[in-house]
Amino acid sequence: MSKINENFNKLQSGYLFATTAKKVGAFSAANPDKKVIKMSIGDATQPLAPAVIAAIKKAADEMGTLEGFRGYGPDFGYDFLREVIAENDFKARGVDISADEIFISDSAKCDTGNIQELFSTDLTIAVLDPVYPTYVDTNVMAGRTGDYNPARGNFDGIIYMPASAENGFKPALPKEVPGLIYLCYPNNPTGTTLSKSELSTWVDYAKKNGSLILFDAAYEAYISHADIPHSIYEIEGAKDVAIEFRSFSKTAGFTGTRCAFTVIPKGLTAKDASGNDVSLHGLWGRRMSTKFNGVPYIIQRAAEACYSPEGKVQLKQTIDYYMNNAKILREGLTAAGISCYGGVDAPYIWIKTPGDFGSWDFFDYLLANTAVAGTPGVGFGNAGEGYLRLTAFNTTENTLEAVARIQKLKF
Ligand code: PLP
Repeated sequence: MSKINENFNKLQSGYLFATTAKKVGAFSAANPDKKVIKMSIGDATQPLAPAVIAAIKKAADEMGTLEGFRGYGPDFGYDFLREVIAENDFKARGVDISADEIFISDSAKCDTGNIQELFSTDLTIAVLDPVYPTYVDTNVMAGRTGDYNPARGNFDGIIYMPASAENGFKPALPKEVPGLIYLCYPNNPTGTTLSKSELSTWVDYAKKNGSLILFDAAYEAYISHADIPHSIYEIEGAKDVAIEFRSFSKTAGFTGTRCAFTVIPKGLTAKDASGNDVSLHGLWGRRMSTKFNGVPYIIQRAAEACYSPEGKVQLKQTIDYYMNNAKILREGLTAAGISCYGGVDAPYIWIKTPGDFGSWDFFDYLLANTAVAGTPGVGFGNAGEGYLRLTAFNTTENTLEAVARIQKLKF
């Protein structure tokens, strides 16, 4: 008889995006004349950069020749890609990360979800609240949490670290020491960031308490301020306590193209049951070579092209385009009397719902009155109640129109 992993029964259904999609669908069906502006899902909308397309075509042509054909690639990615990443994303920022500490993968969602396999199920995890749901759900699946607590609206056995306007979206260090701390900066969903000195307090905490930080930097390319770290390894001592995740999804519009990477310093360790230090680089390598067969050669060449001089300029133009949308949203909504956070070093705008509106009420109200669809903040965690997320991943025309529609409302 086959049996399921009971931990899957603890999961809450994909309530958030399923419910918003259902509501948007019902609204569109009832109002066929109204154009819905979807600012809910964080997906790239602008075309791939010409340098990336050229690299894809060139690599495809190579694959069509006897000499250029490639089969299975190296387990952890081609050296040509690992080297340009080490050079441009780390060494150029004064960070000592070498190519062999970089593992090329197809997804930061997969990597942030799979990394927990390296760790004991006895460990307690700490997450920001609101949070990117993958971190929580993958730990639930692994049995590292208790049950869902309906009264509290989250899982037993997880340390939730609330981030709201009251604490400036800067959660306090946990009192109960977690084994693993998930941090995401620039943050999805709040669009807020930590300065170098603020991130240092987390690194110091992890060092002092023996915790490990899982740092998701999927949105680092959106940082515009000099004092905001792009990598946790810009912080002294972080190589001893942190793993970092990056993705080409939002940096280069690779959401449908698929390439990402994870950085695990060679000296980073965790304890085994006998108290010995075990290399996490070694464990992740073992896992990768067992469960993953690499990103296509053509796509790794496409990712490499992001670091060419033309590629860099073209990527920056697209990021500037999205960040101009973010500015339009922030300024337009602020002028309409709505408090907004984020949207300066991240492509997300975190709106404080006006008056007594709860997250879902405001979502419904906006949809009904402006045909603009956001994402209710409470869907990302309890501390997201009273907030709504809008994304800058849209056209400027739609962004301007959404702002104009919202500005006509009275709160
Ligand atoms: N990490 C965060 C915080 C994200 O918001 C996302 C995508 O929305 C990802 C990771 C996923 O990245 P990828 O497309 O590489 O799986």
